[in-house]
Amino acid sequence: MSDQLSQRYNYPAQFGENTEQLMLQIKAMLLEGKYILTSEVQRFEQTFADYIGCSFARGTNSGTDAITIALLALGLKSDDEVITQANTFHATVSAIQMAGAKPVLVDVDEQSFLMDVRQVPSAITPRTRVIMPVHLFGKPTPMVDLMALAGAHHAAIVEDAAQAHGATIHSKHVGGFGVAGCFSFHPSKNLAAAGDAGAIVTNDSELALRIEYLRALGQIEQGVHVAVGLNSKLDAIQAQILSWKIAYLDAWNRARAQVASWYREALSKLPVVFQRTDDGEQHVYHLLQIRTQYRDRLVSYLQSRGVDAVIRYPVPIHLQPAFAKWGWRRGQFPVAERLATELMCLPIRPDMRRAEVEAVALCVANFFAHAYAAARRAG
Ligand SMILES: *Cc1c(COP(=O)(O)O)cnc(C)c1O
Repeated sequence: MSDQLSQRYNYPAQFGENTEQLMLQIKAMLLEGKYILTSEVQRFEQTFADYIGCSFARGTNSGTDAITIALLALGLKSDDEVITQANTFHATVSAIQMAGAKPVLVDVDEQSFLMDVRQVPSAITPRTRVIMPVHLFGKPTPMVDLMALAGAHHAAIVEDAAQAHGATIHSKHVGGFGVAGCFSFHPSKNLAAAGDAGAIVTNDSELALRIEYLRALGQIEQGVHVAVGLNSKLDAIQAQILSWKIAYLDAWNRARAQVASWYREALSKLPVVFQRTDDGEQHVYHLLQIRTQYRDRLVSYLQSRGVDAVIRYPVPIHLQPAFAKWGWRRGQFPVAERLATELMCLPIRPDMRRAEVEAVALCVANFFAHAYAAARRAG
């Protein structure tokens, strides 16, 4: 680590202990010369399916591809609509569009920072096929209400669980509520490969089969292609790394939750707001977000003192130039717009100690004690 006070990531620390065995397994595989959809990939798929509590997991090249392929496997057509939220990461909506469907947005909840489930009914039309909640920052979306709503309107739920491996509602893992759950194992995520990787989980055997051929150029047997698909399979080296790391996931998630509670305690007297937590849920704190009107100044203040604070998603989905064709307007999703100007991330890692959290908290406190007054005067 550098002389920075607090970093957001420490990827080399994310391999657990005694990594020699993992390195030997990877070396053996490389020298054996079998690389595509090997037994290592199948082993991880089964381990991950069991972990989430689903019958099937199918590995893909990325989380973005996982969403695209899940939607293609559901057979969406070009007029079909997929409802998601206005404050997600770009990939959610990009994948909906790549799958050929029409994204429909709803605004988000002020306190949970998640899809405002109460606004979903007014977004439903006869062409709604899928509702895609995003368990953003690692907090589970309230699935019971959403599932009832989806059921009543014959819409499928596909979860974007790319930030929420291990998050639960009453002990049931997110990703396992909908007809399909999509995960990313990008190096920044709670369960991380050493490169891009993703997976889809489902209990539907026919859907799993369609996913299998859609990730392999639609090929159902050698030389026979029944659909136009992607070429997007989980890499065998990444599968080995993921099988190795999944044993640590729950402990790492508990460590993240501990760091978050240290932050909540240390910042409790300051004018910052945390993402709401709800009874019965396990939040896995992919990102630790705080909300303040003085966000931009606080981020620069922290950065100038060696704290790796950042802003994620400063431009909400409906204002991204990439999505101009959908005709969304400024002011249409006001909560998402406000959150985009007020949310910021503080460093959170499973290996963070209390002293580091308190050093960051002290910087935040100093900002509000000194710089804040100047910020207020400046407006
Ligand atoms: C990371 C992420 C994705 C995409 O995953 P990649 O593996 O980077 O393609 C999709 N949705 C959300 C909410 C994400 O955070």
